Amino acid sequence: MLYRRLGKSGLQVSALSFGSWVTFGDQIGNSVAEACMQKAYDAGINFFDNAESYAGGRSEEVMGSILDKFAWPRDTFVLSSKVFWGGDKPNQEGLSRKHVVEACHAALRRLRVDYLDLYFCHRPDPNTPIEETVRAMDTLVQQGKILYWGTSEWSAAEIMEAYSIARERHLTPPTMEQPQYNMLKRHKVEEEFKRLYETIGLGTTVWSPLASGILTGKYNESIPEGSRLSMPAYDFIKRRFERMREHGVIEVLDTLKSIAHKLGIEVPQLAIAWCLKNENVSTVILGASRLDQLDENLKALDVLESLDEEIMGEIDIALSRFVELND
Ligand code: NDP
Repeated sequence: MLYRRLGKSGLQVSALSFGSWVTFGDQIGNSVAEACMQKAYDAGINFFDNAESYAGGRSEEVMGSILDKFAWPRDTFVLSSKVFWGGDKPNQEGLSRKHVVEACHAALRRLRVDYLDLYFCHRPDPNTPIEETVRAMDTLVQQGKILYWGTSEWSAAEIMEAYSIARERHLTPPTMEQPQYNMLKRHKVEEEFKRLYETIGLGTTVWSPLASGILTGKYNESIPEGSRLSMPAYDFIKRRFERMREHGVIEVLDTLKSIAHKLGIEVPQLAIAWCLKNENVSTVILGASRLDQLDENLKALDVLESLDEEIMGEIDIALSRFVELND
């Protein structure tokens, strides 16, 4: 395993990490979740990602019971949660001081830990002043309930505002952002955030390296039963894929497959290794509904070297034929 600093912080995260969205507490049984966590940990993965909204809290409960059972030393793993969608009632959603604090307490209970290493604002909240959220995060840091805080899917301007407020008022600034980043979604990480890596030392924990599985090519012909796009709750991803199809994604996927096969590897490894080639990526969060997927995806580390300038250039040409969707 490779380890990278989370931005300019001292924290080291494994270059590949493991997340539980869609899968834990929903798509997969607890025994598969347990096997995947063990496999990930044995491979050197030290960062496990979660959120209050995943499977309505069940994802954290499942992960918490696994952590409890395995009893790994607390200083050998980094654990996250995210706050935003906690329920339908007023104050169960968003980034008010009340919800940020209550969601943190609930996550600690479900995950069965004393503190979270990383705590993310899952989306920006236009109804709460950024200063209120920054102050709430700083309080949790001072109380030792979280170690680092950050954002997910915030704009560069919003991150900069939070950072400046924290600096001016001697509060803890955000350390990291969790954006989507993959071959079909590049703009934010590569262009919009460019200055933030230098100016504030932003770390990134990037999500959906396989674009929910689309990059594997598994959906080119039909939708396999039991796969993410076959699940009614994720119909929005199916619709997104249909729009990608209209934008010529299948031809791009075919070219990526030829490039991968030329290197003697499969597209998932190529796609994940490609994310890691970006040095502003602190960690790539993997998702898996089966142990063999995780096995295959972990091999991305072995192919990093083969992605030389020439291959990266070929990939760039292939990707330039696809216009990124703005959603
Ligand atoms: P990916 O884009 O890598 O998609 C993972 C899914 O793709 C798997 O669950 C599986 O789905 C399929 N898959 C994975 N590997 C293979 C393979 N080798 N061959 C075939 N199919 C494969 O990542 P996720 O979208 O799951 O995101 C990863 C993590 O990022 C999440 O768990 C979460 O922690 C985080 N995240 C954060 C978000 C945020 O807003 N901050 C949003 C989304 C994710 P299947 O078997 O069902 O087809």
